[in-house]
Amino acid sequence: MPPHELILLKNMSQPGYTGSLADYEKAGGYQALRKTLGKVAPADVTTTVMKSGLRGRGGAGFPTGVKWGFLPKDYRGPLYLCCNADESEPGTFKDRQLMERDPHQVLEGIVLACYAIGAESAYIYIRGEMVLGSKILERALGEARAAGYVGKNIFGTGVDVEVWVHRGAGAYICGEETALLESLEGKRGLPRVKPPFPATHGLYNKPTVVNNVETLANLPHILTRGAEWFAAIGSPPKSTGTRIFCVSGHVTRPGNYEVPMGVTFRELIFEHAGGMRADRPLKAFIPGGASAPFLTPDHLDVKMDFESVAAAGSMLGSGGVTVMEEGTSMVWAALRLMEFFYHESCGKCSPCREGSSWLVQTMRRIMAKRGRMEDLETLTDLCKNIAGRTVCAFGDAEVSPIMSTLKYWRQEYVDLIREAEAANLIRPEAVGM
Ligand code: NAD
Repeated sequence: MPPHELILLKNMSQPGYTGSLADYEKAGGYQALRKTLGKVAPADVTTTVMKSGLRGRGGAGFPTGVKWGFLPKDYRGPLYLCCNADESEPGTFKDRQLMERDPHQVLEGIVLACYAIGAESAYIYIRGEMVLGSKILERALGEARAAGYVGKNIFGTGVDVEVWVHRGAGAYICGEETALLESLEGKRGLPRVKPPFPATHGLYNKPTVVNNVETLANLPHILTRGAEWFAAIGSPPKSTGTRIFCVSGHVTRPGNYEVPMGVTFRELIFEHAGGMRADRPLKAFIPGGASAPFLTPDHLDVKMDFESVAAAGSMLGSGGVTVMEEGTSMVWAALRLMEFFYHESCGKCSPCREGSSWLVQTMRRIMAKRGRMEDLETLTDLCKNIAGRTVCAFGDAEVSPIMSTLKYWRQEYVDLIREAEAANLIRPEAVGM
C-alpha cells in the first residue's frame, strides 16, 4: 500500500483535534481565505478550480469549475450557493464526518466558493436526521462570524458572505439538487425538470450553484497549494484528488477512508478496511452508493476513478462501498434496497411512483418463495420502463440493484422460484384437489 497524504481527514486524524476555530486556525485553517479574498480575482479562483480538475463529490462527478462557469455572465442581481449536505445515499457517511469533525474546513470552502461566484448568501441544506452535525455547524458559524470569516466586509475587503444552516425533514429526494431548492423555498421537495439547470434558474429562480460538502471542503487546499498540486493526485487527468470512501458491510474495519482516486477496490477493501470480517470470501460489493449497480469479485482490481468504474458497468457515485460476503442472498440485498427506493419515491413521475411499488411487490413475492418464472421478465420490463423515464436520476438509481443482481446472480432468483414451484406441486389446490 503506497503511503499517501490525507487532505480532508488530516486535521481530525491528529490526536486531540476538536474542530474548534482555534484548532482549525492552528492547523493552518482560513489561510486560503486570507490569501484569496481581495487578492485573487474571483474569475482566477474559478480558473484554478477548473485547472485542478476537481469534480463533484456528491455522486455525478461534474467538474466544479465548469459548473461555476455556467453562471450567466454580466449578471447583476442575487445569486446563491447551496451546500448540499443532505447525504442520504445508503452506505454513504463521509459528509457527516466532515461536518461533525472539521466544520470550519467546510465553512472556509463555502466562503471561497461564494467569493468565486459572487454569492453573498450560502445555504447549507443538511439532512434532517443529522441533528448533531447541524448543531456543530451552527456553533462553528458563530465562531466564524465572531472572528470575521463570515459576515459583512470580510477582512475589510468589501466582500459580504452570510451562511445559513437549513435542516431538511428526512426525505431522500431532497438531496436531488432541484428538490433541495424547492424544499429550501418552503415547498414540497419535488425535483424540477432540467434544463434549465440551477446555474441559470436555481433558488428563487436566480442563478445558483449547488455543491456537495466534500467538494467544497477541497477548496481551501486547492487554493493554498495550487491547481497543479491537486491535479497531480489520484488518477489524472480526469479523476484528480482524493476521495473519502465509506466502507460498510461485512468487513473487519468499516469506516471512512481517504485515498487518492485510482486505488483499486481490492486495496480499499482488503488493506484499508481490513478485509472480510469472518474470513468468508467476498461475494459482491456496491461501488458507489445504493444508486450504483452491484459488482462482483471479478471487479476487485478495477481502479476507483470515475472512468474505470463506469467502464466496469457501474459508477463511483457517492463513494459508499458496501461489501457483502459469500452466503448473502443477492435477491434479499436487492429487495432491501428496493424497499428503500419504494419508500423514498417522491411520487412525481408515474414510472417511478407506480413502478417502484410493482417492483417491490414482485421482489417480495419471489423472496417469500411465491414467485413465478415470468416474474423475471416482469422485473426486467419494469426496470426498462422506469430508467431514463423520470424527471430526476432516481428512476435510474432504483432499478440498478435489481438489474445488476439479475445480471450476475440470476440463478438465485431462479432457485427461489423453482422452490416456489416445487412447493406448489404438493399444495392440494395446485393439483385441483
Ligand atoms: P447530473 O449529472 O444531472 O448533474 C450534476 C451536476 O452538474 C448538477 O449540479 C447539474 O446542475 C450540473 N449540470 C449538468 N449539466 C449541466 C449543464 N449543461 N449546465 C449547467 N449545469 C449542469 O446529476 P444529478 O442528478 O445532480 O446527480 C446524480 C448523482 O447523485 C448520482 O450519480 C448519484 O451517485 C448521486 N446521489 C448522491 C446521493 C448522496 O447522498 N450523496 C444520493 C443519491 C444520489
